[in-house]
Amino acid sequence: MEQRPFGSTRVSVPVLGQGTWQMEEDDRAGAIRALRAGLDLGMTHVDTAELYGHGKVEASIVSEAIAGRRGDVFLVSKVMPSNASYAGTLAACERSLKRLRTDHLDCYLLHWPGSHPLEETVRAFEKLVADGKIRAWGVSNFGVEDLEEALALAGPGRIACNQVLYHLEERAIEHAVLPWCEAHGVAVVGYSPFGNGRFPRPDSRGGKVLGAIARAHGVTPYQVALRFLVRGPSLFAIPKASREAHARDNAAAASLTLTADELAHLDAAFPLGPEPASLPVI
Ligand code: NAP
Repeated sequence: MEQRPFGSTRVSVPVLGQGTWQMEEDDRAGAIRALRAGLDLGMTHVDTAELYGHGKVEASIVSEAIAGRRGDVFLVSKVMPSNASYAGTLAACERSLKRLRTDHLDCYLLHWPGSHPLEETVRAFEKLVADGKIRAWGVSNFGVEDLEEALALAGPGRIACNQVLYHLEERAIEHAVLPWCEAHGVAVVGYSPFGNGRFPRPDSRGGKVLGAIARAHGVTPYQVALRFLVRGPSLFAIPKASREAHARDNAAAASLTLTADELAHLDAAFPLGPEPASLPVI
């Protein structure tokens, strides 16, 4: 599995990781099997959150999937904005660690900008780093203004990543967020790479382009999409798969090589569109 430095941490992280949102609704044993198969194939970046299933995904799915192999995993969780005061962040992290049955997170994110002062969240993140509870911290759903605020508070080299909505039909981050992150050494982790299940239809204009490229490589359109989404040096993607076959397909997408022509066709078939007033979120 191809790896690249994860923002300011410089830790090597696979370009493709594994999401876990809504997994509490899936067959539990199957989801754990899928996650473990993904880990076997190098998709060791596992993304979860206290929000997911109100803690159930951390406690009964991710903890089980990583049991006995914590050292192989780049484990990421997120604090809810409503908990992101100084004391609230410290307490939320403890609860996530307990549910995940681990003593540290590799990266801890603020799930989206909220009403608690960001200064408190950043101070709590730095305390958690100093205490060895988290190795690094980042943000999610942050536009450029939010990123500027975080940078002003934390100083350079502290924000590991910004996790944002990014799929073929939603490329808004390419206007300003991605360039900002690249300029400041912040990894960009694209969430919902398949549009949370709303993937381009095969008979749509873009779907036809995806299909033709997929056929030429003997892969699926989903694999082509993933490869396109991690085509830049600071890009990562975290598809969610609760079926083992999907996890296997996703991992294999990392070894696909798209030609410059194919990338240009995809770029044209899924146009960037005008810059929206605010960052789209799911
Ligand atoms: P997604 O990854 O865009 O799509 C998941 C759907 O695609 C599932 O129905 C899955 O099916 C299917 N799928 C997976 N691999 C496939 C393949 N190779 N071929 C065909 N279908 C495939 O959805 P998502 O869960 O919204 O996004 C991914 C992760 O990003 C989340 O799980 C979460 O960790 C993170 N996220 C973060 C935020 C945030 O605010 N920070 C927001 C949304 C998501 P099966 O499950 O049946 O295998």
